[in-house]
Amino acid sequence: MSDHQTIAPHGGTLVDLLVPEAQRETAARRAENLPKLVVNPRELSDLEMLTVGALSPLTGFQGEKDHQLILETMHLENGLAWAIPVTLSLTDEDVKRIGGADEVALLPEEGAAPIAVVEVSEIFRRDRKKEAIGVFLTEDLEHPGVAALHAAGEYCLAGPVRALGLPVHDDFLTYRLTPAQTRAAFAERGWRTVVGFQTRNPIHRAHEYIQKCALEIVDGLLVHPLVGATKGDDVPADVRMRCYEALFEGYYPKDRAMVSVFPAAMRYAGPKEAIWHAICRKNYGCTHFIVGRDHAGVGAYYGTYDAQKIFEEFEPGELDITPLMFEHSFWCDACEGMASPKTCPHGEETRVSLSGTKVREMLRSGERPPIEFSRAEVADILIEAMRGQEP
Ligand SMILES: [Zn+2]
Repeated sequence: MSDHQTIAPHGGTLVDLLVPEAQRETAARRAENLPKLVVNPRELSDLEMLTVGALSPLTGFQGEKDHQLILETMHLENGLAWAIPVTLSLTDEDVKRIGGADEVALLPEEGAAPIAVVEVSEIFRRDRKKEAIGVFLTEDLEHPGVAALHAAGEYCLAGPVRALGLPVHDDFLTYRLTPAQTRAAFAERGWRTVVGFQTRNPIHRAHEYIQKCALEIVDGLLVHPLVGATKGDDVPADVRMRCYEALFEGYYPKDRAMVSVFPAAMRYAGPKEAIWHAICRKNYGCTHFIVGRDHAGVGAYYGTYDAQKIFEEFEPGELDITPLMFEHSFWCDACEGMASPKTCPHGEETRVSLSGTKVREMLRSGERPPIEFSRAEVADILIEAMRGQEP
């Protein structure tokens, strides 16, 4: 069956960096003798995404030329759209230790076996100020992405990657589909158009409504929760997953919707990350991508609609995947249904809206939010998870 049942990957070819199985043992033995570098959790996520082709057309960590072009123009040297550089950082000591090497072995943690080999094409010093502004649109060290940038080494190692394996996970094993696997799953279901939904939060009625509105116009829905590193205060991924399972069990058509996990780490880069997320989902085979308000935002760094408006900065066809922009939605007593400011003519007084703080308060005290806000099944899972947590 053709790879192109839904949409071609970014750049046309789905990348696969895994060394063929027959050569893997020899390659792994050789890697043991190379200079070694332990990657951080964000880099390990990126490595996994590179390996499985989620970051197609990239075949390794990016060099200085692409790095600059992405920050200045949101494009790669080859002209393709790209929003956030994929980097492997080195400290001064790392540079001294491995500076002259042709190849470096990457380790998922200290003492582990190498998981990949990078063929060193260049080592360059990153301009952190420029990178912070180019990616996060702020230099504020309070921003979690900017803080992570400053905590990482000042140099970047670039070059093509050969992967010896994928990071070992002990969770969501049945949900860890690679882009090739989601594409095969879509083809098997006969979906030619698929909408992807990025989330790092439990699904409340508002999210369900948006997903189902989108599903009305395409063949299938891929709920694609991000399970790489996030800030400590996000709801843990395993709790979120239980919520999706409960919702899917009771409220989603089995032949039209599926859940798989997205191994990316959260960058909190708002608009730039919305573009990056959309390109990744295209690689997973999605033809459409839901972009809500303040997508991938944090604090008050980005305007409510910035992550939607940034899509207009690309020529038609450059991204290929179609963004579906949504307003925040709610239950309206007068409409007697879910609605949004686009569809509901009534005032605030008829709308069931609760602040995030209020919802957390209710859940923490063991109280279900109104059924119009959250399905009871989801509320119960969240209440259970919050039991015993510090307020
Ligand atoms: Zn209304």
